[in-house]
Amino acid sequence: MNDALVQFLRARLDDDGEDARAADPELSTVFTRIATFDPEMAADERHIMRHRPARAHYEVVAKRLMLDEVLSSRHLVTGDHCMDCPRVTEADGVGTATADRIRALNDAYRKKLGRDLRCAERCGRDARVHRTLELLALPYADHPDYMQAVAANRA
Ligand SMILES: [Zn+2]
Repeated sequence: MNDALVQFLRARLDDDGEDARAADPELSTVFTRIATFDPEMAADERHIMRHRPARAHYEVVAKRLMLDEVLSSRHLVTGDHCMDCPRVTEADGVGTATADRIRALNDAYRKKLGRDLRCAERCGRDARVHRTLELLALPYADHPDYMQAVAANRA
């Protein structure tokens, strides 16, 4: 579900990182000199100076870490069957016995409710991940693959 948007984000961050590395690292020095001589520097020049290659590089690093952080978040496991998220699997750091217990409880809920119990009814991790991915992708809304990646995230 999130894979297309994660791939899209990683590709855009790779593009941004490559552009930052390819840009002249002295660019900010030139603009700093201009700013020193011209305290009323134009807004465009101030903007370019703020988004110098070094800053762009650190923004890419920060966004990659945010992406890794959100993707590593786990569903809630409390040991209380009324609280545990139905989406818990071994990937959430629980043993097979716990994952099996939660799967069995979900089977019981499915029979009782006629549908699967959703993450949103317990911990909300999936909604937070989806929302964060879409917010990280928003600056790339003008990319031709953006809408397809976001649509896949919502499927
Ligand atoms: Zn959950």
